[in-house]
Amino acid sequence: TSVFAGVPEAPPDPILGLNSAFLADETPGKISLGVGAFRTDEGKPYVLPVVKRVEQQLAADPATNHEYLPIDGLPAFQKLSAELILGKDCTAMNEGRVVTSQALSGTGALRVGITFLARFLRTSGSPPAVYIPTPTWSNHRNIVPDAGLGDARTYRYLDATSGGVDITSMLADLSDAPKGSVIVLHGCAHNPTGADPSPAQWKEILTVVRERGLLPFFDNAYQGFASGDLDADAASVRLFADAGIDMVLSQSFAKNMGLYGQRIGALSVVLAAGTPDVAVAAKAVRSQLKAVVRPMYSSPPAHGARIAVGVLGDSANYAEWKKELAGMAGRIGDMRTALKAALDANGTPGDWSRIVNQIGMFSYTGLSAQQVAYLRTKHHIYMTSNGRISMAGLTTSTVQQVADAMKDAVE
Ligand code: PLP
Repeated sequence: TSVFAGVPEAPPDPILGLNSAFLADETPGKISLGVGAFRTDEGKPYVLPVVKRVEQQLAADPATNHEYLPIDGLPAFQKLSAELILGKDCTAMNEGRVVTSQALSGTGALRVGITFLARFLRTSGSPPAVYIPTPTWSNHRNIVPDAGLGDARTYRYLDATSGGVDITSMLADLSDAPKGSVIVLHGCAHNPTGADPSPAQWKEILTVVRERGLLPFFDNAYQGFASGDLDADAASVRLFADAGIDMVLSQSFAKNMGLYGQRIGALSVVLAAGTPDVAVAAKAVRSQLKAVVRPMYSSPPAHGARIAVGVLGDSANYAEWKKELAGMAGRIGDMRTALKAALDANGTPGDWSRIVNQIGMFSYTGLSAQQVAYLRTKHHIYMTSNGRISMAGLTTSTVQQVADAMKDAVE
C-alpha cells in the first residue's frame, strides 16, 4: 500500500471547487456566476484585442526567445507596473523608494510579500499579526498561515444591513491592532462585497494606520475594473503613498488585461520617506525578495510580462487598452442596472439597490447559503455560498432567467 494512502482529502476551494461542480452539471441552460472572470455578452471568455495584437507581434519578432527571466522578472515590466499603480509622477518612485518584483499574478505577489514580511517585519521582536477584512477573498485566509504567520486576524468591514462599509467598526478594529501589524486592504472593488470606502473614509483609515504604526498591504486585483478608470481606482494607494509611509502592494493583470492563466502580477515594497541610505535599503530588500522567490519557483514566466510591457509601454496600445477596460467595466455596470431592473419589475421582495451601488466584478446580494443552494439545485445557477454573484457571468439574454430564479429563491 502507498505511503500516501492515509493522506486525508483537503476541502475543495470554495471558488474553484464551485466551477468544477458547474462543469459537471449537464443541464442545458445552466449559468455560472461563480468564478471572477470576465465574459462577453455572449458568455464567452474575452481576449482583449490589444493583447491579441501584442501577442502576434511577439510571435513574429525574431528576437523573442524562451530564455529564463531574472528571479525578480522583466525590468521593464517592474517599472511599468509600479507606475501604473503609483502614478507617473510618484515621489516614492522618483526617490528610489519602490522595489518591484514580477510575481505569479496577484496571488503570487501576496504570497511572496507576506513571506518577506514574516521574515523581516519585527516590531517587538516577534513576527507581525496580519489582519484581513471580514468578509474577504477566501484565499487571503490560506496565504497568511502558508507564509508562516499563523491564522490571519480579522477586522470588521461590511455593514450587512446597508451592504456598504461599516467604517466605524473597521476603524475600531484597526485601532485595537498591535503596533506593526500588517493590514490587508483591497485597493478598490472589494471582493466579495463590492463595497469600497469613500475618499473621506480612506483618509480616516490612513489616519489610524499612521497613528497605530500599522503596515498597509494593498491588494490590487481590479485596477480599472471598479470605475473603468485606472487612475480613479488607484486613488486609495496613491493617497497612502503620498503620506510617505512604508507599505506593500500586490497587483494582478488577470482581470484588467484578461491575462488570468498567464499568471502575471507584481509585488512592490515601498520604503518610508526619509529612509537614510535608501539605495542600500532598496537593494537589500530586492535581494531578499529574490531570496524568497528562488527556492519557491526560481523565476517567473515571460510571456505575460512581455504582453503587459507591450500594452503599458506603448502609448497607442495603452490608449486602446484603456478603452477596452472601460468597455469591460461598462458591460458589468449594464448588467448591474439590468439585474436590479428585472428584480424590481418581477416584484422580488427586498431592496436590491445594493446591486447598483456596489462596484467591481461582484455583487454581494445578501442571498443566504440556503437560497444559494436552492438556486443551484432547482435552477442550475451557481454562485458562492456567501451569495456573491460575478456580474460578468450575466448576459443580456440570461438576466431575466436569473432574476426570476432569484425571486423564486427569495419567496
Ligand atoms: N486578490 C483578490 C481580492 C482577488 O479577488 C483575486 C482574484 O480573484 C486575487 C487577489 C488574485 O488573483 P490572481 O492570482 O489570479 O491574480
